[in-house]
Amino acid sequence: MIDLRSDTVTQPTPAMRQAMLDAELGDDVYGEDPTVTRLEQRLAGDLGLEAGLFVPSGTMSNLLGLLAHCERGDEYLVGQQAHTYKYEGGGAAVLGSIQPQPIEMAADGSLDLDLVRSYIKADDFHFARTRLLALENTMHGKVLPLAYLAAARAFTREHGLALHLDGARLYNAAVKLGVPVREISQHFDSVSICLSKGLGAPVGSVLCGDAELIAKARRWRKVVGGGMRQAGMLAAAGLHALDHQVERLAEDHTHAAQLGTALAELGYQVEPVQTNMVYLAMGNEAPALQAFLAARGIRISPAPRLRLVTHLDVNAADIEAVIAAFAAYRHR
Ligand SMILES: *Cc1c(COP(=O)(O)O)cnc(C)c1O
Repeated sequence: MIDLRSDTVTQPTPAMRQAMLDAELGDDVYGEDPTVTRLEQRLAGDLGLEAGLFVPSGTMSNLLGLLAHCERGDEYLVGQQAHTYKYEGGGAAVLGSIQPQPIEMAADGSLDLDLVRSYIKADDFHFARTRLLALENTMHGKVLPLAYLAAARAFTREHGLALHLDGARLYNAAVKLGVPVREISQHFDSVSICLSKGLGAPVGSVLCGDAELIAKARRWRKVVGGGMRQAGMLAAAGLHALDHQVERLAEDHTHAAQLGTALAELGYQVEPVQTNMVYLAMGNEAPALQAFLAARGIRISPAPRLRLVTHLDVNAADIEAVIAAFAAYRHR
């Protein structure tokens, strides 16, 4: 099977499994797992932030970021299509009594800062207290420009807001721009990174921020049941990914670009490709396409705005096979 549904479907490589087996372990709830501590310090260092916190998922990482920044009755500003608003079960509202203020997104994945300004609430007891702006990078495979991030930083300072990044695919953005991750992360008060997407680890995310924020998040991690014991076995996979599987993200980007170009030549309506995602307008044809591809060993999710994701377990020959299958569907 060639699975293009998501970059979450990757299997740990033999070398990653070995690193997991070899990990030095302790009880991380006591702060005694050296491998977890190493991963947290490593990522915080790479991002130019003070501290890190290892958690089971990106959803928990974003949630803990929001819980650490905001109090009950506070509000965060967030994109209408952002993961932290749309795809996390409303966790901040459900568990933190934090109100989201969703905002229409621009085509490039950014939030227009003048529009954001119009949503900041006055200091008035009728309103929730606007506390935080949350961005996402990459956003549907698009990289936010560095100049925009600098502008968002200045904007949030001007308005006394914190700035959080859902950087599930931050490394894809950095590899695409050809800059160290800290060039992106330096603009944020907190950053959530997924190790289990293109980086290829089986489990895990890390929230980074200043020491005070991460201490608060550590407390909330325990509250929501995310304190893990000999979690170094999982953290070792993340460290292995950071050491061995960052540069190869460029291959995923190349594969996605090849796929996007070939599908456009076949007459499909393809959005411009920047990183590891190809979006096609398939409308109500998506289920028929899904069935056609499934019969040829290719898995997709049948959305009208169809997303194809390249990753560690999709190689150059797979891309050729996918292009051939889309050509066959076109000419069926
Ligand atoms: C996957 C993802 C998350 C959450 O990650 P999980 O580990 O699946 O909870 C958050 N934000 C974005 C943009 C993601 O793609």
